[in-house]
Amino acid sequence: MRYIEPHAHVVSRTTDDYERMALAGCAAVCEPAFWAGFDRSSPAGFYDYFCQLTEHEPKRAAKFGLKHFCWLCINSKEAEDVKLAEEVIALIPQFLNRPNVLGIGEIGLNKNSRNELRVLEMQVELAATHEQLILVHTPHLEDKLKGTRLILDVLKNDQRIRPERVIIDHVEEHTVEMVLDCGMWAGMTLYPETKCTPARAIDILETYGSERIWMNSACDWGVSDPLAVPKTALEMKRRGHLAKAIDRVIYQNPQKFLKQSKNFKLL
Ligand SMILES: [Zn+2]
Repeated sequence: MRYIEPHAHVVSRTTDDYERMALAGCAAVCEPAFWAGFDRSSPAGFYDYFCQLTEHEPKRAAKFGLKHFCWLCINSKEAEDVKLAEEVIALIPQFLNRPNVLGIGEIGLNKNSRNELRVLEMQVELAATHEQLILVHTPHLEDKLKGTRLILDVLKNDQRIRPERVIIDHVEEHTVEMVLDCGMWAGMTLYPETKCTPARAIDILETYGSERIWMNSACDWGVSDPLAVPKTALEMKRRGHLAKAIDRVIYQNPQKFLKQSKNFKLL
């Protein structure tokens, strides 16, 4: 088996996790900038995090034979303070030329507040100005449908944003269709409890097909499973999916989307 982990917060994981991912056939791990589990107190905290994502973590991953890529932004959970967000966004352009940066993400909404929406628009502007790919985090549970609609409206209203260069992550049964209908990519997050279980994710694939869909573990500092993608691939095999079809979802699809960034190289 070979696969790409397109969404994992590996700064929070151990070297054992890296080793297990490499043993399972992981070719590359991609890390969106996100909440650290606590709020940073200043833009300097984000500056250090961006250095960690672009300088230190690729070296740690390389020790296990894994390529490490990242996305940069201020996440929606820390976007309530618009002034802080402006200062963090101003830091990002100096990092965009670093060799493992894929684009702007994971931007999006958390509670669908007015300030979050303002900061989302600022970061779509940043991505458009610098011709970057976009990775979007959608809210959880009851906020997901409304949040996904708001996000799609922002993206569709900007003529500079090409839908095939946007991935909307954490889709579920009630949001996947509207994302695919816009021509954007959809990411399914495999969580042991919330978001998609492997069984639900495979049901979605069997319903909507695998065009423009990928799967990720989104593993972080909380309850999550860095091996969720290969485990779901095994479950697909058990349910009768052919090896070629599985390879398409877990390797070829993320590769196809990510190589729209000139920095995404597997060799
Ligand atoms: Zn994430």
